[in-house]
Amino acid sequence: MNITIEGLSKIYPNGNRAINNISLEIQDGMFGLLGPNGAGKSTLMRILVTLMKPSSGKVTIDGLDLVKNRKEIRKILGYLPQDFRFFSKLTTHEFLDYAARLAGMKDSKTRASAVDRMLEEVGLFEARDRQANRLSGGMKRRLGIAQALINNPRLIIVDEPTTGLDPEERIRFRNLLSTISTKDVIIILSTHIVGDISSTCKSMALLNRGELAYSGSPDELVEQA
Ligand code: ADP
Ligand code: ADP
Repeated sequence: MNITIEGLSKIYPNGNRAINNISLEIQDGMFGLLGPNGAGKSTLMRILVTLMKPSSGKVTIDGLDLVKNRKEIRKILGYLPQDFRFFSKLTTHEFLDYAARLAGMKDSKTRASAVDRMLEEVGLFEARDRQANRLSGGMKRRLGIAQALINNPRLIIVDEPTTGLDPEERIRFRNLLSTISTKDVIIILSTHIVGDISSTCKSMALLNRGELAYSGSPDELVEQA
């Protein structure tokens, strides 16, 4: 799997230049997107998950143009947005079953086993009958990643998943992402916390005010600083 970003810019209708002429290559594994608030991380992610079109520039995923092949690309995508909320009173397994149905899994037995496997994987099997919107912050975040992973996506995009988590939950979440990261899968992790990236990602980009300030390995960035 391979993502190529060439000369990408995004200017919002009000004139805000959120991303300015970014070029970047992303390969298999975990990729960290680091930057302070307002750097353009969420904007870049919304473009990558095809919720928003770039103003100019080009993104290709395994050679497929992102704008021209939205349908195909959505099939391989898993997305955990920053502001993911559980509005419903569904239990964790009901919620995941719903996510699986949305992802196009039609057979209820297939769904049930996929849901149980996923609950196991994110450590929520014991909480399968608990109401999703009453879980702890860390558990909610893990349920959020579970819904993003239910259709075995090859491109997984998680936006600031560790914000608001205590240190223990943060480490648990990082470890979870590391175990998901297998061959032929890209995980893009956006964060403003350097430690999230240095402990899990082999490559990264640093954004600042819409500009690409650094790309390469996290170790070299730390050495430069
Ligand atoms: P980050 O995720 O790194 O905090 P964002 O991509 O959310 O950065 O924001 C980048 C810049 O674009 C900021 O200046 C922000 O105010 C602006 N921005 C974000 N969304 C919008 C929008 N919908 N309309 C106008 N400006 C926006
Ligand atoms: P993030 O932390 O991901 O940058 P924000 O909290 O900045 O997100 O933005 C939340 C929502 O408000 C998003 O939908 C974003 O597009 C929108 N937004 C952010 N900045 C602006 C802005 N300057 N003008 C209009 N909408 C904005």
